Amino acid sequence: SAGGAGTTGTRFDLDKETELRFEVEAGERVQLELLSGMAEVFGSELNKNKKYTFGPGSKIAVFTWHGCGVSLTGKTEVAYVSKDTPMMLYLNTHAALEQMRRQAEKENERGPRVMVVGPTDVGKSTLCRVLLNYAVRLGRRPTLVELDVGQSSVSIPGTMAGLCIERPADVEEGFSVQAPLVFHFGSTTPGTNIKLYNKLTSCLAEVFSQRCEVNRKASVGGCIINTCGWVKGSGYQALVHCASAFEVDVVLVLDQERLYNELKRDLPHFVRVVLLPKSGGVVERSKGGRRESRDEKIREYFYGFRGTSFYPHAYDVRFSDVRIFKIGAPSIPDSCLPLGMSQDDTQLKLVPVSPGRDLTHHVLSVSSVDDDAEPGDGQSRGILESPVCGFIVVTAVDTQAQVMTVLSPAPRPLPRHTLLIMDIRFIDLK
Ligand code: ADP
Repeated sequence: SAGGAGTTGTRFDLDKETELRFEVEAGERVQLELLSGMAEVFGSELNKNKKYTFGPGSKIAVFTWHGCGVSLTGKTEVAYVSKDTPMMLYLNTHAALEQMRRQAEKENERGPRVMVVGPTDVGKSTLCRVLLNYAVRLGRRPTLVELDVGQSSVSIPGTMAGLCIERPADVEEGFSVQAPLVFHFGSTTPGTNIKLYNKLTSCLAEVFSQRCEVNRKASVGGCIINTCGWVKGSGYQALVHCASAFEVDVVLVLDQERLYNELKRDLPHFVRVVLLPKSGGVVERSKGGRRESRDEKIREYFYGFRGTSFYPHAYDVRFSDVRIFKIGAPSIPDSCLPLGMSQDDTQLKLVPVSPGRDLTHHVLSVSSVDDDAEPGDGQSRGILESPVCGFIVVTAVDTQAQVMTVLSPAPRPLPRHTLLIMDIRFIDLK
């Protein structure tokens, strides 16, 4: 591997405020060990002499505030030390947020609500992780709001979620996702149904605000909102909507001055909009690379990873035992809309899906809504706004016998019977 660490351990000695960046080759694993000093990976501290393993395609930065020695074992695509990192600016940002939390504590107010925005592959998720880690390391309890439906750090793609952060992210696996609040969006880009996207953003904001009312630590901790890389047109409007729904105090714009200027112009004057540089270490992912990481995320949901293997179940579900909906009717010309109905209504409409062969490989969300909840007047707010309790994949459909075979993390029966179909497909190769 050109410029890589080879298969035997390679030692790197890092000066203060520098980082070692490496990428793991496809099909390979790389082990990282801290030999001396102190270092962190995206804000999580490394333990000395513990071996951390990173899988194929991982892109990692080991940063040190005071200098350290580390070793890498395994095939890396690249591995180099950089002195040029924005970590000092990120730390200053954290310090400013922490100041706001202290203030909130003193004055019995609420802590900072922060939205992180920017185009794709500028390190938005990474910055969120760093800021959340620094906050939780000081004993804060911030909330991560994940609105990136393409690359969610909380649940599978096609979802929008909230997660209370109670401990730093695991160096290898990220934040522990116990009891996240997950909503079904159904596709990997907000543009598929922007009305639904905005609606679910509002739902998450509402749930978060309710939690802040009863939980002082959550209120003081505030939230860090990760957003999609789509920053033009409706994508931009969705950011403005999010800022208002969450009543954000701070917007961190990564890398794009134009976006920074637009948000400064369009958001209320009391919102602090800050432009931050992206790290030179952030690597652009190809379309294919992004698709692979989405697939991997779904595979992990069913099969677990590394230390923790899950054993999913396959069983038959009778069509008559479930009701399946797709959110959003195809839009029709305004002139054809029934009286009193708007285009918005069609995007939020629950359309019953009759199971057929084309359901095969689709991911379905299992809604937590009561089984007997009425789809209602066609708006079915109850179902749209109910969190998801899990996901299944349809692996086969037998229209003759009126059953479908599903892959499920839990044994039969399904916990609930209202299913929402995603655009997203998963082909189970196990
Ligand atoms: P975005 O959320 O804007 O799409 P991410 O935060 O997911 O971007 O970053 C893209 C990729 O770059 C991720 O795989 C991440 O691990 C990697 N990365 C981020 N910062 C660095 C860095 N300083 N050095 C090396 N890789 C990095």
